[in-house]
Amino acid sequence: MEIKVQKTTSPKAKPTDETKLGFGHVFTDHMFVMNYDAGEGWHDARIVPYGEISLSPAAMCLHYGQEIFEGLKAYRTADGSVQMFRPQENFKRMNNSAERMVIPKFDEEFMLKALRQLVELDKDWVPHTDGASLYIRPFIFATDPYVGVKPADHYLFLIILSPSGAYYSTGLNPVKIYVEQKYVRAVRGGTGFAKTAANYAVSLKSQDEAHNQDYEQVLWLDGVEQKYIEEVGSMNIFFVIDGEVITPQLTGSVLPGITRKSSLELCKKWGMKVSERRITIQEVADAYDAGKLDEVFGTGTAAVISPVGHLKWGDKIMTINDNKIGSISQKLYDTMTGIQYGKLPDDMGWIEKI
Ligand SMILES: *Cc1c(COP(=O)(O)O)cnc(C)c1O
Repeated sequence: MEIKVQKTTSPKAKPTDETKLGFGHVFTDHMFVMNYDAGEGWHDARIVPYGEISLSPAAMCLHYGQEIFEGLKAYRTADGSVQMFRPQENFKRMNNSAERMVIPKFDEEFMLKALRQLVELDKDWVPHTDGASLYIRPFIFATDPYVGVKPADHYLFLIILSPSGAYYSTGLNPVKIYVEQKYVRAVRGGTGFAKTAANYAVSLKSQDEAHNQDYEQVLWLDGVEQKYIEEVGSMNIFFVIDGEVITPQLTGSVLPGITRKSSLELCKKWGMKVSERRITIQEVADAYDAGKLDEVFGTGTAAVISPVGHLKWGDKIMTINDNKIGSISQKLYDTMTGIQYGKLPDDMGWIEKI
């Protein structure tokens, strides 16, 4: 499929102070758009000026939430070039999400080509400040003007780009989280493994209550017994107990993070004892009491590694590693960001240069 390109005739001024970018507020000059119509398949791939889209008030995505998305980044290296981190993994996961949400699948190789072309066109928007990056948001949603409940026949696939500031401006600060005992995020057989808007909608109430109590995130337990640990906020979670690096196994209710996968691959390469297994909150508390809970950290594209310094479970408060970043967390962070920003050699084959 050919990609038609319509360049903007009124380029926007680029942000002058990259330290004030924040996350997800500023968008570049162009976006990718592609249509799906039953019988025709995906067609009309195009890059057009970034701008508003028109939608029927009856568009199915607005009523029943048939939507999926992805999140990845493009980084600027010291020599000024631009590169992405494992974008193939994002399109692969997006097709898995599509399958679950009955959204038509797409050609992953074609989409990688389209993404490269879009980032190339807007590459001057990739920030230069250390730690800043261009956040990439691909998403698909149902557009049929119909208020009946069924999988749609018409969809839009968009990619928008947002220059974003450094996640950590003052070093890796450990976060304060608590174990969520009232709400659940996902259940076995549900949509937990898919990157779909609904999973975020159901988590907002819990996040709101956490913020009101001065906590940054919540630690989700399994939706059936509320015993096994699943993930934290919108990140996967890792524990280091007595030298063993543990993350919950993927059971269908946990989002298969690419940072999670990359962390596992690095720890294995470094010869560490690594386990993907079920782990209860009780086991974590017992390890803490025995002085064997060395590190807890979240993994995700936005923060890469987010150390947990304070973990509350009911009345029990656990202070991890003196509320300081642990050595494995630091090593993972340094290695992954080193590869992403081209400061370290890409010996894992994770980099896609633009
Ligand atoms: C996207 C996401 C993650 C992290 O995935 P990465 O690919 O590492 O960014 C973890 N949990 C949830 C719920 C997510 O949506």
